[in-house]
Amino acid sequence: MLTIGNCRIEAQVVDITTLHVDAIVNAANTSLLGGGGVDGAIHRAAGPDLLRECQTLNGCPTGDAKLTAGYRLPAKHVIHTVGPVWNGGARDEASLLASCYRCSLECARAAAVKSIAFPAISCGVYRFPPDEAVKIAVQTVIDALSADPSLERVVFACFDDAMLARYERELSARASG
Ligand code: ADP
Repeated sequence: MLTIGNCRIEAQVVDITTLHVDAIVNAANTSLLGGGGVDGAIHRAAGPDLLRECQTLNGCPTGDAKLTAGYRLPAKHVIHTVGPVWNGGARDEASLLASCYRCSLECARAAAVKSIAFPAISCGVYRFPPDEAVKIAVQTVIDALSADPSLERVVFACFDDAMLARYERELSARASG
């Protein structure tokens, strides 16, 4: 756990679809028409109206984010962002991943979101090395918070203990230094 200004940042092992936050972030693909992993879980939990709204959005470029309602989810909104596919690191993957976190937080601010949960974007089938992805996630969120004092809670939702340990390490490194 780490506190920056008014905002508590924490990591948890949890299914992101169960979280009672204003917005959950979806690690989507450019079509925004559903997929596997966390994307599939979010669409299953939200119900078919989510896909109907996504069909009106004309997709989303890598590194960008778009907002929808949360439908049957406990979260009011879903922020769909498209992480980069890892291709060795020389194709701007790191800056595109950082852009996902920044654009998601911009969407959140536009919707007056006070609490938000992120999955480990690009760390599944998109194969981004998780240690580096978690560093980028934590640093980008911390940097963006100084521009957005209205956010009160950020949750990094982890699928397993190994991912949780990465976030805990990054958060405690910044808490102590
Ligand atoms: P990407 O295509 O961006 O790599 P994935 O959905 O394949 O996205 O994986 C992103 C991360 O989300 C992985 O760490 C995966 O273990 C995790 N994940 C999958 N389902 C859930 C869920 N229901 N809640 C939280 N995290 C999840």
